[in-house]
Amino acid sequence: MVEIGIMGVGGRMGRMLVQAVQAAGKSCRLVAASERADSPLIGQDAGEVAGIGAIGVPILSDTGRLFATGRVVIDFTRPEVTLAQLPKAVALGSLLVIGTTGFDAGGRGKIAEAGQQIPIVMAPNFSVGVNLMMRVVADVARVLEESFDIEIIEAHHRHKVDAPSGTALGLGRAVAQAIGRELHEVAVYGREGITGERERQTIGFATVRGGDIVGDHTVLFAGEGERLEVTHRASSRMTFAKGAVRAAIWLAGRKAGLYDMADVLNFDRGGSE
Ligand code: NAD
Repeated sequence: MVEIGIMGVGGRMGRMLVQAVQAAGKSCRLVAASERADSPLIGQDAGEVAGIGAIGVPILSDTGRLFATGRVVIDFTRPEVTLAQLPKAVALGSLLVIGTTGFDAGGRGKIAEAGQQIPIVMAPNFSVGVNLMMRVVADVARVLEESFDIEIIEAHHRHKVDAPSGTALGLGRAVAQAIGRELHEVAVYGREGITGERERQTIGFATVRGGDIVGDHTVLFAGEGERLEVTHRASSRMTFAKGAVRAAIWLAGRKAGLYDMADVLNFDRGGSE
């Protein structure tokens, strides 16, 4: 039974994570949860806050004992929060699943350093489907390489402020790497006016924004007389929460290191666990 702690339990992802830990059944158990020191949620039951009823886990302030030896703490907060808490995780021998995004190079460096002392899984997208898609599109690109044009189309809700999505860029990198191209040299971000004919080497990106779309990604391989499309659609944040809990269970008992979802899904050994 893996003991789990959740940092930022009152957030959109935090609440989902409580539900995902509960749904994982006997393999893991929520034992601690935290929020920022001035949160009105301090002292409330984490299960009540997540809408699943009391589970006997009162929400601690960020100065409380969230970290403990052997406990896996899942973090979906903000980069500065993760980095401030990191030394405590190392000092107490906790394991970490980091879903927080937006670290700069310095922040990533600190996480890599911590990874030399404790086991950490970090991923910008914890959806099992998206991580599987990264692998699938790389395989497809290797086979179709020269004779198909590659385009990446993504759609997100109207509140998203950046484009293309980090996941679309990740898919672009996976495809480009697989066929020996540098994404920054071949990427085309949107087209308008007299663009001229498409150059075979390019990888095009198209962005859709609207409504409450959680996140759709398609990699299109277009050839003469046929086309192949690989599509992933996220319809709920629960997909990220379930992936993070899967990563937490996988991480328990590992040796120190900085791992990603490809490790969790056993991609490097050619299959899924
Ligand atoms: P959110 O703002 O809803 O939640 C963050 C929570 O952290 C808030 O409740 C906040 O009060 C809490 N918090 C702030 N300071 C804290 C502290 N010192 N100690 C404990 N808790 C503290 O945000 P969200 O939508 O849940 O997203 C959180 C992060 O997860 C973002 O970086 C987002 O980009 C990322 N995210 C990653 C994935 C993925 O698959 N990797 C998926 C979704 C979101």
